[in-house]
Amino acid sequence: MSAGMPQRLLTIGEARAAVLAAVRPLPAEPTPVAEALDRVLAQDVQALGDVPPFPSSAMDGYALQAVRKGSRLTVVAESRAGTPAAHHLAAGQAIRISTGAAVPAGAEAVIRQEDVELNGTSIQTLADVAPGENIRPAGEVMAAGAQVLAAGTALGPAEIAAAISAGAGEVLVGGRPTVRALSTGDELRGPGEPLGPGQIHNSNGPMLAGLARHAGAVALTPEVLPDDPQATEEGLRAALEEAEVVIVAGGVSVGPHDHVRPALERLGVQERFWGVALQPGKPTWFGTTGGRLVFGLPGNPVSAAVTFALFVVPALAALQGGPPTTQGPGEAVLGVPVRQNRHREQALRVTLERRDGALLAMPNGPQGSHVITSLVGADALALIPEGEGTLEPGTVVALQPLPR
Ligand code: AMP
Ligand code: MG
Repeated sequence: MSAGMPQRLLTIGEARAAVLAAVRPLPAEPTPVAEALDRVLAQDVQALGDVPPFPSSAMDGYALQAVRKGSRLTVVAESRAGTPAAHHLAAGQAIRISTGAAVPAGAEAVIRQEDVELNGTSIQTLADVAPGENIRPAGEVMAAGAQVLAAGTALGPAEIAAAISAGAGEVLVGGRPTVRALSTGDELRGPGEPLGPGQIHNSNGPMLAGLARHAGAVALTPEVLPDDPQATEEGLRAALEEAEVVIVAGGVSVGPHDHVRPALERLGVQERFWGVALQPGKPTWFGTTGGRLVFGLPGNPVSAAVTFALFVVPALAALQGGPPTTQGPGEAVLGVPVRQNRHREQALRVTLERRDGALLAMPNGPQGSHVITSLVGADALALIPEGEGTLEPGTVVALQPLPR
């Protein structure tokens, strides 16, 4: 095995294409619709019946036949939401009705209660009433058989409500990948633990597990591996037995204590790429074994988060049957000059603000790959193409969403 990084680094696009080429969506599973929040539909949802299922009132008022202003009608019954009136309405009659209640047979319209004068058991209309007024026809929202949601749609609260309105009890959704995040390093201590000489807190493990969860995965408890070849191999072996996606951060570079790549090689994980022309994130490694995906991310926290956004998020989306979310929120213009990196594309953490009609990208503080605070409050990544010069303020740059 070579001691150094490969000569040719992949572009971000090449690396992402290699990841997506290795992804096979997980089998879809039927799931109770009310428990399907954030899952990805694997099958279209059609309306099982008309919605609303019956002509219903848009107002609190009185169901009646079309009449002119000044008509006097006898109130003969009531139609409440959930309890329709049994009465068939005839000329000269009105039926008290609530919003959402079924319009009784024989009625042509509903007059708002504000537009009548009630005298005991009769009303006088204070406005003309046209046929169909204040009636929501059956099937107005969804006609029986109409497609309501398309396969590939992520189910947010509104989509869940639409599927339930359409009559769905269960929906077929893509499987959720199980993810194990591993952090490597003898220097790592748990949250709140006192630090000895040379030690730091393990911020990557919980961050990567959180990112995986927010990307729809089942995130197992993150674990820490020491900088030891045997322990690294054992930890990776165990993770590969229980997770479809293993994310190991740190130990993938060229240092004497970077044991991840040799351990993965011994475990038979096939390397798909190592090295991306990206700052931060150059030593990113990706491999597969069976249907399992292994991401070796750089240990610096910002590098780990950036490479997760660029490569792991699309993989987790595709595993769930969704479209890989590679599209950024578009473009912005730089608010400050940015020095290009001669060999690598840069992913700047930026805040975005509208100024004079333009979307302005401002670096979110110092951009070192160890400066975790550059991610706090950042709105997006701005991608700075590699090159020799300085991009001047006003230069248009592509944006990449930052997962939360
Ligand atoms: P490595 O990729 O292992 O060479 O790590 C690069 C840098 O990231 C080193 O300064 C590590 O101390 C730091 N680092 C590695 N893992 C973590 C972690 N889990 N949390 C915070 N920092 C880390
Ligand atoms: Mg290390």
